[in-house]
Amino acid sequence: MRVEFLGGVRTVTGSATLLETNSLKWLVDCGMFQGGKEIEERNRNIRSYSPQDLSFILLTHAHIDHSGLIPRLVREGFRGKVICTKATLDLCEVLFRDSGHIQEMEAEWQTRKSKRSGKRGVTPLYTVKDAEESLRYFQTVHYDEILKLADGVRICLRDAGHILGSAIIELWVEEGVQERKLVFSGDLGSLNQPLVRDPSKIERGDVLWLESTYGNRFHKSRKETVNELSKIIQEAICDQAKVVIPAFAVGRTQDIIYTIGQLIREGAISPIPIYIDSPLAISATEIFQRNSDCFDEETKALLLGGRNPLEPPEIVYTRTMEESKAINEDSRAGIIVSASGMCDSGRIKHHLKHHLWRKESHIVIIGYQSEGTVGRMLVDGAKTVRLLGEEIAVKARIHTLGGFSAHADQEGLLKWLSYFKNPQLEVFVNHGEEKISIELAQVIQQKFNYKTAVPQWREKRSLFTPEREAVPEERVEEVSALGETFTTLLNRLDRSYKRLRRKLKRERTKGEESVDPRRLRQLGEINEKLEELESEL
Ligand SMILES: [Zn+2]
Ligand SMILES: [Zn+2]
Repeated sequence: MRVEFLGGVRTVTGSATLLETNSLKWLVDCGMFQGGKEIEERNRNIRSYSPQDLSFILLTHAHIDHSGLIPRLVREGFRGKVICTKATLDLCEVLFRDSGHIQEMEAEWQTRKSKRSGKRGVTPLYTVKDAEESLRYFQTVHYDEILKLADGVRICLRDAGHILGSAIIELWVEEGVQERKLVFSGDLGSLNQPLVRDPSKIERGDVLWLESTYGNRFHKSRKETVNELSKIIQEAICDQAKVVIPAFAVGRTQDIIYTIGQLIREGAISPIPIYIDSPLAISATEIFQRNSDCFDEETKALLLGGRNPLEPPEIVYTRTMEESKAINEDSRAGIIVSASGMCDSGRIKHHLKHHLWRKESHIVIIGYQSEGTVGRMLVDGAKTVRLLGEEIAVKARIHTLGGFSAHADQEGLLKWLSYFKNPQLEVFVNHGEEKISIELAQVIQQKFNYKTAVPQWREKRSLFTPEREAVPEERVEEVSALGETFTTLLNRLDRSYKRLRRKLKRERTKGEESVDPRRLRQLGEINEKLEELESEL
């Protein structure tokens, strides 16, 4: 059996893995690359397979970085089955439509720009119609149910506790006399996240794909984070001010609604208007309500007791632009939750424009902020930001609350990994920035002594060779964690040497008398060390 790593490797977006036996080809996840022109080019270049040759796509969850290219594959001839949970299908329905709309708008804008410079128009990656059409190929399964997909291929979806409907995929593949079990963690939730259950424990497996979004971080405790939020809201109530929370439409928004509701239920804050100002977030929240079987026990108990945790008092869902504008005409204290989560598109931009320059307002950042986004600039302490064509002063208080993450931190990932009982387990660390994946791979190797690797984009390997070794093909390079350390150290050496030379040169131009004898001694020592190392090799 062969595997090709097509995305979500050394980056957090574009998750996709191609698997191939003698008779079948299929994908696990089919995500869209996001984060700049260069990487997004990969969305248009599917070179490793023809969509019509794929038998199925196994989908871990609805987030676009895992599902977003499915409409494109269907448009290009995919006629197999997309296997996922029912909640994932429901969420894909709204997310795909939204994504199709964004693709159409972007292509239209690009086309106008291209035509002005005498070039040809741009076709969208896919349209709303393609998005809707692709949903026909979905087949849903329940958690924990084993499904035979073809001769020699069985799967089981287990709760990943990341967002509603998210799954860890267990996959058994037979080839000849061998059977191996592959496990895909998908995005793994953190413990005690509201609404969703904790990630399922998996004990058996031969090969594991493990996400590493926060593989080098330790989140603050949820309790501490909730207390911080409570203080911010109390202060805003006192000052009659607004709290603006940029939040991803699926997952973070519902989490924050639940948490504010909880603070009101416990009497920590008095009821305050909560505006949910994002049509996508509103649709997603409705889907959460329809899939209450996926909720954790705490949420189910609240529902049974007649208290809907997604409908705290004074919650206002605003769909139209008029309703959205009216929010800021209300002079009372209030909380505005709006998308996009990284502040670079959508209605959140209007709210930031309205509040960033007011020193009594609060901006609360609860999710991951990519480099280059307005959200990241605010986190990094920018004094002004450009929004909707205007330079806006940042006078509001900016708070970054780490404990709301929907991804396990290093401690959570290692704990989940500790449930495996196979000393021969092989681990591919994926879904993380390069440096972070490598760091986690090293920690795993040291702690568990598992064979770990951080694959390259489009790297191919064989999973069924008796010695279980990587098969060197095309652009495969050795990526064991030790190999990684070696490369990292070499790169560091290169960079330090260049910096050192630059500084020494500067020193020399100052003239002979400025040369420090201590400096000469140090350089002599470095030279000796280098020569010693070289002669050892
Ligand atoms: Zn996700
Ligand atoms: Zn993801």
